Amino acid sequence: MPSLTFYGGINEIGGNKILLEAEGTRIFLDFGMSFNIANQYFAEFLQPRKCTALADFFELGLLPDVKGIYREDYLKHMDRPAEERSVDAVLLTHAHADHAQYIHFLRTDIPIYCTEATRTILQVLEETGSNPLSDLVTACDAFTFYTNKRGTLSRVTRRNTDFVHERIYHVMAPEDRVTIGSLEIEMVPVDHSLPGACGYVIYSDEGNLVYTGDIRFHGYNQALSKQFVKKAQAAKPKWLVTEGTRIDSARTDSESGVRSEITQLIATAKGLVFVEHPIRDLDRVNTIFEAARTNDRAFVVTLKLAYLIEALGDLAPFSLSAVKILVPKKSWGLIGKDGYGFDWNQVERDYANWERAFISRENAITCKELQQKPENYVVSMSLWEINQLTDLQPEAAIWIKSSCEPFSDEMKLDEERKRNWLEHFGIKDYFAHASGHASGPELKALINAINPDRLYPVHTEHPELFKDFFKNVELVELGKKYTL
Ligand SMILES: [Zn+2]
Ligand SMILES: [Zn+2]
Repeated sequence: MPSLTFYGGINEIGGNKILLEAEGTRIFLDFGMSFNIANQYFAEFLQPRKCTALADFFELGLLPDVKGIYREDYLKHMDRPAEERSVDAVLLTHAHADHAQYIHFLRTDIPIYCTEATRTILQVLEETGSNPLSDLVTACDAFTFYTNKRGTLSRVTRRNTDFVHERIYHVMAPEDRVTIGSLEIEMVPVDHSLPGACGYVIYSDEGNLVYTGDIRFHGYNQALSKQFVKKAQAAKPKWLVTEGTRIDSARTDSESGVRSEITQLIATAKGLVFVEHPIRDLDRVNTIFEAARTNDRAFVVTLKLAYLIEALGDLAPFSLSAVKILVPKKSWGLIGKDGYGFDWNQVERDYANWERAFISRENAITCKELQQKPENYVVSMSLWEINQLTDLQPEAAIWIKSSCEPFSDEMKLDEERKRNWLEHFGIKDYFAHASGHASGPELKALINAINPDRLYPVHTEHPELFKDFFKNVELVELGKKYTL
């Protein structure tokens, strides 16, 4: 009999790690990080220790102690004997950390199935991220030494390419069906607040299973979600694992609504317009780009966003040449400083290797230029780069927060810090946002249409609310095996 074991995503939003076992085939549906548990025990300056490999993560329930899935280098450092690989694949629905971050810990011989955009975003995170858990597309042997030219031992770093291993990725196209052991897997794209999001329909002799991943019906790709429901319905699944983030909310908002709001706010602005948004939500980025264009302003992106847009290529909503790239002052801050007799190498030294490719582009721009013609620009900005306000000295500027309201204590503190900056510079702030998740009524319609025998709500703080509307709900417990 097939079974499901839920190692995350239970009574919380995200952290999905769901093990499906069927006729000797074992696959994980997502392998994400739980922000909830991480925030219970850790803070900015209290993090799980690298030196314990997996021990801090096992101890506090951040990762399940499942045999045969974790990296050999980590197990060895914990004095655990080598293990045989025990799962056949991981299916990722999208590249958000709460679904994908912890693949960092997985063996490199476990194949990962996902969309092209998901793989690209994970690669960008690996190349540009500051997160230490970034062995997402490749993995570098940890706790390993090599003999250097002097004949003594050195610690392996990413520069020792012999110790960097490629993970095995299978990029899936829509309608592709692949066979993994006894299961047939179909990737079906959905609308969500990140490019490349998908759900899966899994076919087996004993019945079919549908997994929604994260889904919404109000973005620019809403047709994909409708198509997903049709596909799932046609599979007549016995089991449906659905996200339920907003089961308690009937609020309807839409990406096109956000576009009109931001367009109007820009129209009334006299000075610079700053927009704070989730960096990898390319739908939102496109919304801001269009709103800026309607107002004859150029959209100015950060170096990180520039890197992502370029990496996505045709999967991005517009090309990098259509926007300006803001090069912030860093370290010595020599950018835009003329006549001091230093050479370009000195300017470059302030920037990471991946950033250097952008700072001398034709469409690169500095705070100095923004300050000269503030009415010409809409600037992508976050708290983490807000100290550029000192360089910009903005007058009559506005700030549009186009991301979710803070929900953790840490986020509330960050929000307060941001508010202090805005007050200091007399910047008026506004809010325009639409969620990445379906509303309660939309979720009910999805479930009614797919009509599974059994329903497993995950990725929600309120799984019990599903019981008010459906009889066949399983309120799942963490780590318990459910025979299907
Ligand atoms: Zn999620
Ligand atoms: Zn998500």
